[in-house]
Amino acid sequence: MIYSVIVDLSASEVDRIFDYKGEGYTVGARVLVDFRGRLTEGYIIAQKDTSDFDADKIKPIVKPLDDFTAISEDLLDLGRYMREQYHLRWADVLRLFIPAEMRGNRVRLLSKQQAYLTTDDSLDVILASLKPNATAQRDLVAFLYLNGPALSETLNAEFGNSALRALRQKGLVDFREVVIRRTPYKNIQSAAVKHDLLPAQQNAVDAVLSDRQGRFLLHGVTGSGKTEVYLTVIERLVAEGKSCIMLVPEISLTPNMLRQLRARFGDTVALLHSGLSRGERYDEWLRLKNGEALIAVGARSAVFAPLKNIGAIIIDEEHDGSYISDFNPRYNTAEVAEYRAQQNGALLLLGSATPALGSYYAAKQGRLRLIEMPERINRQPLPKVEIVDMTLETRRGNKGIFSAALKQRLRQTVEAGNQAMLFLNRRGYSSFLMCTKCGYVAKCEDCDVTLTVHREDNRLKCHYCGKSYYLLDRCPKCKAQSFRQGRIGTQQVVELLREMFPDVKVLRMDADTTQTKESHGKILESFAKGEAQILVGTQMIAKGHDFPKVTLVGILDGDQSLHHEDYLATERTFQLITQVAGRSGRDKDVGVVVLQTYTPAHYCLRFAAEQDYKGFYNYEINIRQASAFPPFSEIVRILYTGEKEQDCIDELVEQDAEISNIRSARPEAFLYADKMRCPLRRAEKQYRFQILLKLTKDSVREILPQIYAVCDGKKRRSVTVSVERNPQNLS
Ligand code: ADP
Ligand code: ZN
Repeated sequence: MIYSVIVDLSASEVDRIFDYKGEGYTVGARVLVDFRGRLTEGYIIAQKDTSDFDADKIKPIVKPLDDFTAISEDLLDLGRYMREQYHLRWADVLRLFIPAEMRGNRVRLLSKQQAYLTTDDSLDVILASLKPNATAQRDLVAFLYLNGPALSETLNAEFGNSALRALRQKGLVDFREVVIRRTPYKNIQSAAVKHDLLPAQQNAVDAVLSDRQGRFLLHGVTGSGKTEVYLTVIERLVAEGKSCIMLVPEISLTPNMLRQLRARFGDTVALLHSGLSRGERYDEWLRLKNGEALIAVGARSAVFAPLKNIGAIIIDEEHDGSYISDFNPRYNTAEVAEYRAQQNGALLLLGSATPALGSYYAAKQGRLRLIEMPERINRQPLPKVEIVDMTLETRRGNKGIFSAALKQRLRQTVEAGNQAMLFLNRRGYSSFLMCTKCGYVAKCEDCDVTLTVHREDNRLKCHYCGKSYYLLDRCPKCKAQSFRQGRIGTQQVVELLREMFPDVKVLRMDADTTQTKESHGKILESFAKGEAQILVGTQMIAKGHDFPKVTLVGILDGDQSLHHEDYLATERTFQLITQVAGRSGRDKDVGVVVLQTYTPAHYCLRFAAEQDYKGFYNYEINIRQASAFPPFSEIVRILYTGEKEQDCIDELVEQDAEISNIRSARPEAFLYADKMRCPLRRAEKQYRFQILLKLTKDSVREILPQIYAVCDGKKRRSVTVSVERNPQNLS
């Protein structure tokens, strides 16, 4: 038999199928092959009777790598789809389907020695054979008799090493190796709480289950009980013998979901997540693969869970940017989920309080079925949002970070023994110019997109059309010389709070305080236990935690993500404010949100303050249509990164010339095209440059392959060229 093998090397020269011969292998298996004189791991992706190559030049497969077939047929098929859709290399795609540790044999099952009684005699009989003063041996035997087999290490710790050895010598006890499953987040457990569904939840469940192959968008406000809807759908499908995939943006930030799934479904839940240890990840993956676990929960990569007979793929917080992979291999999780759902005849359920504009648009167009849950559980009112005009504060002489209103609210909250969260926006790398007197922000005349300050040549630039402007030093609107460009830091906020409230405990959560795997969880747990009254943080604190005692949320710089060079900036800001506001007043007390801004009249903040998603959607979708941004067009970014700056520039210039040729042949397909330095100029020693293209929707299929071809023709080894479709950030 001839097998088509992909060697597990991601160099583009070897992104080809190589023929090997052998007998008895299965498609999808991992094998060891001789590739150009070196033993290399590979994947069998097809088999055939004959090869186009010279029969005696074909080498035999050396040996299988696993005692099971690593990649199922339907995942191979998904791989084919992804390869084409995202222009990926085979090896990069296939690696997504197995735990990284399996490659290079860096993980194995954990087995330990277990001790068991060799006799069926009653306890009295066994004890009679032991000396009366051999207490440890007698206790150990009694323990095994009553509890059944136990790990030798446990017994040694409990009864001393010599007892077990002595019993073995007497032939009363023997050992065997057993596989130990490594379970991640063992401490995340809780008693099962199952709510009776409220009418809105019941309707949602009924709607979803009425079409087992449907595509749904569940739009439910924060606290409307979406989780219970997911759990009920999963419960029904699992009862029918199906498996399910539950995706969350970042599991370490949402242990809540894991807790609830485990409480309800116990060991049939497996967690797939990059933060796990090698062993944990491998064991969880195997449990899914061999059918011991039926429910996979995790971040985006869990969409590749090795499950059969999938009944539902659920994506919670579907608007979250983390569902779009922005490094190789780049893919869009919702698209992948849709393909897998189709393969399995499964339903796809996207849920969010603030759906991505594109998803809501798809629902309006009938490509997704919209289900709405507009009220919170118990009809609690949504928190009240107060917009504070910071330009007024500046004019009143308050140049500080806190407005008078926020200071007062903080004091009240602390005195009442409640908790507050203070939120700082920290997205993007570019800086914009803002007048702190009148709130003026410099924007592009052509694109209505915020201009970015470029220090290297002291210009303001538009990252969509490339137009550049003089750097202003005086506000064109109010003539003041009061531009702000810097940002407030969390550390600074914490210090000010300590001055204002010396007796109050303040916690801080940002990239600096959360270096380790568990630190997120620890900070949040400490806050949940009431060990601090104020939590200061970046967007990390925005995601789905339930803190019943939080009655005040302060957003210190509501503008920060609004004035960003990105067309997604307003959408992101709306989502962020709504999510953050959703943290407040989840219990009995009505929450208050104080939103500080220099542009209080901005429609995004107005709609966010009202928690009016539909209002925001209608407004924003019109802007997108008028300015031909997605979902009405497609943004393509070609990114050039490398340690040698000049190489990046040269590569870009050459490829740009080729793209210009494509453009001249089809001018109407290109709404924009330009090249520039990235706002994040250098990261991890790599210089960054980009070509930005805006294509009409219907030309993408035709133009994109041509662009890929240009990029594949890269000439400089030191440069990495990558193509992103509708990237989630343009930093
Ligand atoms: P969402 O995900 O929509 O923001 P959650 O699923 O977190 O909302 O639910 C909010 C709260 O309401 C949770 O504390 C949850 O336990 C509770 N809850 C959900 N469904 C019900 C119900 N049917 N009856 C009572 N409480 C419920
Ligand atoms: Zn512009």
